[in-house]
Amino acid sequence: MESREDEEVIGLFGFEEPLADWSPRKFMFALVCVTDRVHVMKIAANTVAAFEYTLTNAKGDVLDSSNGMPPLEYLHGANNIIPGLERELEGLVAGDEKKVVVEPAAGYGERDERLIAAVPRDRFETDDMIEVGMKFHAQTPEGVRVMTVIAVADDTVTLDGNHPMAGETLYFQVRVAAVREATQEELNHGHPHREGGCCGGHGHGECDGHHHGDGECDGKGSCGHHH
Ligand SMILES: [Zn+2]
Repeated sequence: MESREDEEVIGLFGFEEPLADWSPRKFMFALVCVTDRVHVMKIAANTVAAFEYTLTNAKGDVLDSSNGMPPLEYLHGANNIIPGLERELEGLVAGDEKKVVVEPAAGYGERDERLIAAVPRDRFETDDMIEVGMKFHAQTPEGVRVMTVIAVADDTVTLDGNHPMAGETLYFQVRVAAVREATQEELNHGHPHREGGCCGGHGHGECDGHHHGDGECDGKGSCGHHH
């Protein structure tokens, strides 16, 4: 019981009697305090972790990066990020760096050729030129899906409903910036709240179509009636 942390706790809480005179209860209390102080929070369920990342494909092209943005925060265990990455972040602590390789099945899925469809041009409710690379939202039995135009002919437009990163093996270089306990509100919402507000993050889609009522996500970091 000679460690520096003990001395700090004794000082901090004003325990002045010799250690031998402490009641078992006080001793336990001090022990809990010491444990708290030296405890380094690991990424686990119900923690909010923030990490910096660079994502490259097999060829080494950078597909995405947190460079120039605040570290990406997510609620661990809430499907905020792809499962293959979430799994590998578990147990890390602030300052840890790791290379994570995510196979398509644990990332954005395999490419599915059935999600490619030629659609008559007159089905599009737009007078604008339809060009390769444009994206449309299509209502499907599984919900709204983003469809990318991959070919345009005289009377048909070919759409691809695969995620742009489907079929890619993803190479992440991550560095954990911070780990903290999630608040009850964050657990209820299933995502972190940056700077105390709902949906105030940087547009990673966390405001899309779930249990937030209309008008809650105003893009200014506040969340309607919650705050
Ligand atoms: Zn929220």
